[in-house]
Amino acid sequence: MASSHTVLMRLVASAYSIAQKAGTIVRRVIAEGDLGIVEKTCATDLQTKADRLAQMSICSSLARKFPKLTIIGEELVVWVDPLDGTKEYTEGLLDNVTVLIGIAYEGKAIAGVINQPYYNYQAGPDAVLGRTIWGVLGLGAFGFQLKEAPAGKHIITTTRSHNNKLVTDCVTAMNPDDVLRVGGAGNKIIQLIEGKASAYVFASPGCKKWDTCAPEVILHAVGGKLTDIHGNALQYNKEVKHMNSAGVLATLRNYDYYASRVPESVKNALVP
Ligand code: AMP
Ligand code: MG
Ligand code: MG
Repeated sequence: MASSHTVLMRLVASAYSIAQKAGTIVRRVIAEGDLGIVEKTCATDLQTKADRLAQMSICSSLARKFPKLTIIGEELVVWVDPLDGTKEYTEGLLDNVTVLIGIAYEGKAIAGVINQPYYNYQAGPDAVLGRTIWGVLGLGAFGFQLKEAPAGKHIITTTRSHNNKLVTDCVTAMNPDDVLRVGGAGNKIIQLIEGKASAYVFASPGCKKWDTCAPEVILHAVGGKLTDIHGNALQYNKEVKHMNSAGVLATLRNYDYYASRVPESVKNALVP
């Protein structure tokens, strides 16, 4: 156990700089102008040159620094999304984009790094671009200022590019004062911890374990909660299926209110 603690802290420190480097790749591809877009399963499931280069960079750096990662992989699993919010990236909504590196121990998400390459991009030419948020369960989350969402308001953040009837039905049932439609799982968790939204509601399959692992840790480290739409905790062991088939429900506060409003029809349609 002592040695796995040491490995964990080395892994978090490396993931911090590795995610930063991936963030510079994400910016460079836009600057060079050729996104190299490929459709994976459909027109809203895209991959760009930035996804591919960031993935290679993250995986080769991890493999170089942790050659035994597959051996300790029985206990520690790293979930990587080199570019979260690819659809929005291709449409120039650059602050929606994040690089996600999540670390799970015995199936539980325990550490995470979120690099937001275009943080500050609308702040003018002198602004420093990008930031890295990181967290470890039991230690805390760092690299941002925790802010509460407006009290008594239900501000729902949800998908911008993967909407469907189930998503809309569930959001409507939350009695929202406002609905924000933005890209990226990382970006939506940032909205929760910075007080821009009170709940992240996504009642649909589509989101994967690499989308939720790092964001879940950051949220949990500051007292929030992320589950599927039924209220089940997500598992991150090596064998688990990648798809979060029963959607995502996440809040910083008042989780029970939102969980209690998920319609039965929505629950019945989403099998874990
Ligand atoms: P969104 O909130 O739509 O940005 O989704 C968050 C993450 O889940 C992104 O990485 C998406 O690529 C992924 N995702 C959600 N729904 C789908 C879908 N129907 N097809 C492919 N990827 C999806
Ligand atoms: Mg993603
Ligand atoms: Mg991605």
